[in-house]
Amino acid sequence: MTTDWDVAVVGAGTAGLTAATVAARSGLRVVAYDRMAPGGQLVNLTVLHDFPQPGLVSGASELMAELVAQAAAAGVTMNFAEVTRVHAGAPPRLSTTDGEVTAGAVLVATGLSAGRLGLRGEEELVGRGVSTCAGCDGPLFRDRSVAVVGDDEWTADEALELAGLASTVTVLVPGEPRWSAARAERLAAADRVEVLTSASVVALRGSGVLSGVIVRTAGGERELAVSGLFSYVGRRGPAGLVDGVPADAAGRLHAGSGAPAAVGPVFVAGDARAGAEQSLAAATADGTRAGEAAVAALRPADGGLNLRIIDPTHGVLPEDEGAAAGAPAGTTDWTQVALFSNSKPNATELLQGMGAKLRAHWDLPELGFASKESASVPADGDTIDWLAQRYRMVLVAAGD
Ligand SMILES: Cc1cc2nc3c(=O)[nH]c(=O)nc-3n(C[C@H](O)[C@H](O)[C@H](O)COP(=O)(O)OP(=O)(O)OC[C@H]3O[C@@H](n4cnc5c(N)ncnc54)[C@H](O)[C@@H]3O)c2cc1C
Repeated sequence: MTTDWDVAVVGAGTAGLTAATVAARSGLRVVAYDRMAPGGQLVNLTVLHDFPQPGLVSGASELMAELVAQAAAAGVTMNFAEVTRVHAGAPPRLSTTDGEVTAGAVLVATGLSAGRLGLRGEEELVGRGVSTCAGCDGPLFRDRSVAVVGDDEWTADEALELAGLASTVTVLVPGEPRWSAARAERLAAADRVEVLTSASVVALRGSGVLSGVIVRTAGGERELAVSGLFSYVGRRGPAGLVDGVPADAAGRLHAGSGAPAAVGPVFVAGDARAGAEQSLAAATADGTRAGEAAVAALRPADGGLNLRIIDPTHGVLPEDEGAAAGAPAGTTDWTQVALFSNSKPNATELLQGMGAKLRAHWDLPELGFASKESASVPADGDTIDWLAQRYRMVLVAAGD
């Protein structure tokens, strides 16, 4: 089966970049789509808590740079387009704002949308007082009052970050806090922070810019004069993105990172997956699992080790017709080892002999031949790099 890509990843955040790197390192042709920039939620964060381990802190930009560099080194192709639909099938097909593509497997790692309260006038006030990013917008509220809505660890961290800037921070917890005792202690010790439980925002005040929120608690309703509102509730997953894959009440997909969805070779990793823990450590583990599962799903039943001689003298194979000009063809099969020759008779002969010996040694069912479109493709650094990104091992014999 010929597909545009072996693996298409939807969303280049922590889970998506990790999954893409794992799949590409195994020699698969991987594209990662992101409708914005790579990094996902990391783009909005400065300091990372509990990463790489609980209690430890590291920098978001460093992790983002590392994930992007690893994906690039593994040969992942980035495409800055939005995936609007994943049509399940054999093979799965993706509708994107950059056209339609097919892939042997699809990894969905879209994360969650920004937190919204669903109140009248909220969208118009985004960027005018309403925010979901303390790291980016916090400095705009220096010495001003802000409210924070949420109940999890990251809400507590965002509130503490804002407490270093704002004059007062009122944390509105819809029910009871879910954050750890350590976070509770730090919030209690921060003198500019007040936490109200069973508190909900029922209306926004302000024309053009936010000037206050109406808060409902057990004691009734009152107006809180704030110029900033940071919301971490109402974040939604990509419900409806993949044909036939159900979602939970928050729109997160009911599908596994390690096992394909019932509709076919579609895996879901990171925050977009129903039941995911929603942390960077969990997104990394999920992404690794999904990448490995995609590799396993695309590996042929014989164990996955095949040999291909990539040599222009063998002519263009039927399944390779139409392959991109300039790039060596013959990568439509799962292959771990490429034997590359620049078609000079002595080099080809050498590789054929070596291929036959390896085939006998590993008891392989076949020794495949692939071809380049032009016999003049040289065995230069670019060609070898191209091969090295797609195969686990490349043996080169260049004759003259
Ligand atoms: C405020 C806040 C603070 C946090 N702080 C921490 C912390 O300190 N430590 C920690 O461990 N965790 C923290 N987390 C949790 C952590 O950030 C997430 O669990 C993690 O980023 C999830 O990674 P992901 O790859 O699943 O999704 P994301 O990082 O959200 O990436 C998803 C990507 O998919 C792209 N995308 C979405 N839809 C499409 C589409 N249709 N087509 C193409 N691209 C698409 C998006 O543009 C985005 O780049 C925090 C979360 C929040 C909200």
